[in-house]
Amino acid sequence: MAAVGIDSLVAAASAGRRILLLFDFDGTLSPTVSRPEQARLPKSMRRTLVDLAAAGCQVGVISGRSLADLRHRIDIPGVWLAGSGGLELWREGRHVGEQRVVAGATTLAAHARAIAPAIERLPGAWLEQKPLGMTIHHRGASPKTVTAIRQLALDMQARALDVRVTVCSLGVEISPFPEVHKGTAVSEFIAAVGDESPGLLYAGNDHNDAEAMAEVARRGGWVIAVGDDAHPAHTQVSTPSDLCELLVNLGLALNAS
Ligand SMILES: [Mg+2]
Repeated sequence: MAAVGIDSLVAAASAGRRILLLFDFDGTLSPTVSRPEQARLPKSMRRTLVDLAAAGCQVGVISGRSLADLRHRIDIPGVWLAGSGGLELWREGRHVGEQRVVAGATTLAAHARAIAPAIERLPGAWLEQKPLGMTIHHRGASPKTVTAIRQLALDMQARALDVRVTVCSLGVEISPFPEVHKGTAVSEFIAAVGDESPGLLYAGNDHNDAEAMAEVARRGGWVIAVGDDAHPAHTQVSTPSDLCELLVNLGLALNAS
């Protein structure tokens, strides 16, 4: 396997290749908080991403949050965004790609109706309905609640072929487009960056990052896991602030080359 790390990205940039740096948001760029609406991009991380963009890197954020939610949290001109786990893509200040609409929202609404009563009975669990998906949150809930939610999700996946169910560390994500995920968003961004073989980095922290990590690894890129819940990676760091430190060093190395 080719060596990955800061040196490989510096070498790619020196060889005139584009550099594409892709990140998950919650738990990767931003520390995990007790309510999802409280998550913020730390100032130091924002400054670091701005500096990397100024150094010529294309930066992208790929999240399970809706695009509207993500745009509100990542206010950096030029950064590409993929919301709803890759279903909504945003580049050069506009929506790109297929504009997906859940036809009559029927698939999602039917599944939401079916599981809502069970979720209401579980203390610490709540259902978030988004334009293109839903999340059963269980941040801070008891292990018993978490187990019950995961079983509910596995049951849903077993009987419903029209949804993608992803069990994550803080909740369960349900998408009505099983063929689309963060890995397909990675491919779309690579196709758009104007280099068939860019220097690549992906950092994520959870099970819903697995496809993106696999896609970046398959293309010879550098995969970074934040914390202990992500899939195997080339490099593991403990927290978003450790990731920030690594990215500062990447920026310094790129500017010195
Ligand atoms: Mg995450």
